[in-house]
Amino acid sequence: MANLELKFDAIQQAITDAAVDAIIIIDETGLVRYFSASAERLFGFDSTEVLGQNVKMLMPAKEARAHDGYLHNYTSTGRPKVIGIGRDVIGRRKDGSTFPMHLSVGEAHTQEGRLFVGICHDLSEFKGLLEQLSSAERRYKDIIQYQREFICRLSSSLRLSFVNNAFCEQLGYQESEVLGISLLEFIHEDDRHKVESILTRLRAEQDEASLSLSCAVLDQQGGTHIIDWTFRTLPASSEFHYEIQVIGNNITEQVKAKQHAKFLAEYDSLTGFFNKDGLNRAFARSVDSSKDYAVFFTDSYRFRLINEKYGQDVGDLMLIEAAQRIKSCMPADSLICRPGADDFLLVVPINDKAEALPLADTLLHSIIEPYFLAGEKLVLSAVVGISFYGEGATELPVLIRQAESAMFEAKASHHPVRVYHQDIHQQLTMRLEIEQGIRRALDMNLFEVVLQAKYNLDDMSLDGYEALIRWHDPELGTVSPQVFVAIAEKVNLGIELDLWVLSNVLQQIAAWRKAGYLVKPIAVNITAAHFSLPGLFNQVERMTAELDLPMNCIELEITEGVAMGNSQVIMDNMQLFKRHGVSIAIDDFGTGYSSLGYLKDLPVQLLKIDRVFIKDIEHPKNYGLVNAMIAMADAVGMRVLAEGIETQRQRDILWKMGCDLGQGYLFAKPVSYEEIEKTLPTA
Ligand code: C2E
Ligand code: MG
Ligand code: MG
Repeated sequence: MANLELKFDAIQQAITDAAVDAIIIIDETGLVRYFSASAERLFGFDSTEVLGQNVKMLMPAKEARAHDGYLHNYTSTGRPKVIGIGRDVIGRRKDGSTFPMHLSVGEAHTQEGRLFVGICHDLSEFKGLLEQLSSAERRYKDIIQYQREFICRLSSSLRLSFVNNAFCEQLGYQESEVLGISLLEFIHEDDRHKVESILTRLRAEQDEASLSLSCAVLDQQGGTHIIDWTFRTLPASSEFHYEIQVIGNNITEQVKAKQHAKFLAEYDSLTGFFNKDGLNRAFARSVDSSKDYAVFFTDSYRFRLINEKYGQDVGDLMLIEAAQRIKSCMPADSLICRPGADDFLLVVPINDKAEALPLADTLLHSIIEPYFLAGEKLVLSAVVGISFYGEGATELPVLIRQAESAMFEAKASHHPVRVYHQDIHQQLTMRLEIEQGIRRALDMNLFEVVLQAKYNLDDMSLDGYEALIRWHDPELGTVSPQVFVAIAEKVNLGIELDLWVLSNVLQQIAAWRKAGYLVKPIAVNITAAHFSLPGLFNQVERMTAELDLPMNCIELEITEGVAMGNSQVIMDNMQLFKRHGVSIAIDDFGTGYSSLGYLKDLPVQLLKIDRVFIKDIEHPKNYGLVNAMIAMADAVGMRVLAEGIETQRQRDILWKMGCDLGQGYLFAKPVSYEEIEKTLPTA
């Protein structure tokens, strides 16, 4: 094929050899007539292997087919498709591998005929760089698209020319709905001027300035988002065209959390009233020392029971309704606080102290009006304690303590409204000391039980005993059970106290029985909360069984209020004890205003008429009452015991009335186990 090789003179040869790009010359039939040194390097062929061969050997199959088409078209029509025009094509090396190259083809008319000169520029490196560049761009685009921040670009007329996914997703738009729209359209109208003025400043700044602000942005649904924006000018492409890069951080949740935390620090989330901290701050801000204020502290009974019976949700609804009522009936400039549970605390400006009591009354009624919840009519009873600003106290914590003491006093005295006075404070201190003392006494076993005998009035035979607790405290001295049992009940220690007495009495009975003594039943007083517990019967049953005692070695005394409580648990407890031979007595009968008719339905064996009626039994009113009680108990088959018989005359009157049993100093005072033991018969 060597005869086909074009002959170059020395200079032509030197020039073509020096060319960096490959030079390939072919004739009209496509045969290679010249293959430069650089072509040898690029394609990996020796020129002797290519000369005289069809140039298609340097192309992959697809390109080769196109080549035939181009050549045929040009030679037959004279219309060039590739001549004089550069194209990116694929070349094929000797080893079969392919590579991108830029091919430009020129045409020459020589004595050898028409020749085509192809210059091939290797694009491998360039294409590689291009590929790297575009994948880098893709990566950056992805990063920007999937940032949690809003990333946008604004044209000089503030229209959005780019938005990332975060912007669209968080605001609920499609990209096509926002591009071309002014950013200001998305800003809440109250904040637009802020954004406009910052953008004006930004434009006035020298290049690449950056400014930040937070503002409200509206989403597609009209919801508000708080966005922390940073605006930055990008280098201007011309004097009039510059762009602004905008990065926005959606801080709505943080702002909400902060506001909520701030709210919770000062407000009660259930009612929206102040909490104690909030009240203190509001009072410090608004108090005017030239004015008068009344502080009201309310608390209700039975709220705990409502929570227990109907669930906390109903309790919450009740408090919310109470809060609304309180708010609507108190002066508008009152500061209202819910310090906890069912308490409300109010600081109310007054012109005169005389206004306080009617206000307290209104407040009280707003709370105790029935509530219609959970399909029932629910009633709370409440008390209010009052203290006055300026009366020896101007500091809110002191005023609150005073009003709280008055509230406790109101509770203790069953008076719905009480005004603070100095004595209350002393009583309260005493109360606290007793409360701590009870805990100490329970821990250190400082209590003692004494027994008071009960007799049949007919023949003065012994019927049984009542166990009465005694407490001599090393610091407080002897404290009356009347006082400390009531306090124990208020601070939820009543049940512990009952259990202590029960266990003490049962152990004593067991010890006596073991020693061969015969013991009549001993009655134990049970507090209201304890008798309302569903587990009480099982507890007593377990305690007696552990000591191998029959349950009827004890009796129980409950107060009239408990017996009339109309609760299923209380009724069940009574039935269970009755079935197991444990007699139940209604203690202090007559003081609780219960209807006598109600008694007949109760599984109760004994009625203990309170001492107050016995003391002045000769007074016609008492005489009539006691007579009626005995007659009525008789009619329903209950026995009657008269408490506190101190004189023979009282005993005789009662005996004549038909009273079955008597208890009192006339017969026996409460005495220690040792004293009782001396009187016990043996088997
Ligand atoms: P109570 O259950 O009605 O007990 C009768 C109270 O009347 C006892 O007072 C007793 O000492 C007193 N008493 C008895 N006979 C006479 C009398 O002839 N004249 C006078 N003036 N008083 C008499 P005590 O022991 O001071 O108890 C007072 C209240 O404390 C009891 O009233 C009871 O409600 C409560 N209590 C006492 N011990 C216990 C106990 O162990 N558990 C519970 N839960 N309450 C108790
Ligand atoms: Mg009793
Ligand atoms: Mg009694």
